[in-house]
Amino acid sequence: MEFFKNRTFALKGIIVHTPDFDHMEYHENEYVICKDGRSVGIFHELPEEYQEIPVLDFSDKFIIPGMCDMHVHAPQYGFRGLGMLLDCNSEWETWFDRYSFPEESRYADLEYADKAYGRFVDDLLKTTTTTRASIFATIHRPATELLMRKLADAGFSAYVGKLNMDRNSRFGLQETTEETLKETERWLKETETGYGQVKPILTPRYTPTCTDACMEGLQVLSEKYQVPVQSHLSEGLDEIEWVKQLKPGLSCYGEAYDMYDLLGSRQPAVMAHVVHPNEAEYELIKHRNVLVAHCPQSNTNAANGVAPILQMVHDGIRVGLGTDMAGGYNLNLLRTMTDAIQASKLRWCFTERNGDPFAKKNFLTVANAFYLATKGGGSFFGKVGSFEPDYEFDAVVLDDAALADFVERPVQDRFQRILWLYTADTVTAKFIQGTCVYQA
Ligand code: FE
Repeated sequence: MEFFKNRTFALKGIIVHTPDFDHMEYHENEYVICKDGRSVGIFHELPEEYQEIPVLDFSDKFIIPGMCDMHVHAPQYGFRGLGMLLDCNSEWETWFDRYSFPEESRYADLEYADKAYGRFVDDLLKTTTTTRASIFATIHRPATELLMRKLADAGFSAYVGKLNMDRNSRFGLQETTEETLKETERWLKETETGYGQVKPILTPRYTPTCTDACMEGLQVLSEKYQVPVQSHLSEGLDEIEWVKQLKPGLSCYGEAYDMYDLLGSRQPAVMAHVVHPNEAEYELIKHRNVLVAHCPQSNTNAANGVAPILQMVHDGIRVGLGTDMAGGYNLNLLRTMTDAIQASKLRWCFTERNGDPFAKKNFLTVANAFYLATKGGGSFFGKVGSFEPDYEFDAVVLDDAALADFVERPVQDRFQRILWLYTADTVTAKFIQGTCVYQA
């Protein structure tokens, strides 16, 4: 689109963002300016030096910063919506054996990967919110590179990980230690450049699938190629017990990554879930500046409990939101936001409230959830997730016309309604780093 080629322009509309965790700003009928892919800020009138730039008028539509999905398994998209009804206390093994591993094994076939990843990227592009993501692929290097190519071609900024699994794996997904490290290094070399803003991220699936030798090898690669790390941490009590058996004598599960410098000590780390951190782990992730990817849909689907997100944020731990496809089933981060709010209410009911009819309410607000989805997760990518000056210009335009009733409502109410009632038609346009990547 010629209009956006210079990446310097203004969008006009109802501009919404959350400079801090507790406050939302609504700027009605104002301008947000993008200069060379970065935000200049929000203005009531166009400043003198920007009088001549193109203005795209989205009056009466909402303009929000792009949202970041900080934990999503692209190869699990095919079986989304399945496995949600497994019996309570069913073993994780069942979900892995019935759905996850058989599906992931299909990505050895590039023809299948081409179809399935094509669908994933297309749907990610059209979904209302996501502009950035931290993505798990599979163990397969060629299919992982194919996914990266598709994301880059669509204009996404993302981290993508080729998985490491050299123990406790099945369905052809088990690699030898030598193989997994060799393929990982080859993948790092091949994707160092040429994939736009799509970058590799080391991805030991989790401690149970990675031997000590594998972790040692990843420690070397992380340092050599200066790449960040993503994995799972303390999602379920059974998983934590398993790690205790595999790595006895540690103060916490997180130490099983930290001892190999894979928990933020050398390179940034994003860890999914952290539902049950013990005291040592809580302090460790705080000290290491780990970004916790909170995945409320899978917290509830897997019945592992709800991560203590409010407490984490107040204690200075970084938090973003993840869909955890296909432990979750919806790619839309607006849905993840409302799930996070609802999950935090249930957590409050069963912890702080604990039957007290007059207990002080303490759960996530819309501002809190919106902050986590934008600026919280965005911090992993740099200055991302806000329209404050110098932030990278990721924006999504949302149209609530179809949701309106016959009462004129304040923008705060209208925005709230979008979160809970959005439809496929809600998204009007999407910009990543100042480039328009999607228009309805
Ligand atoms: Fe996951």
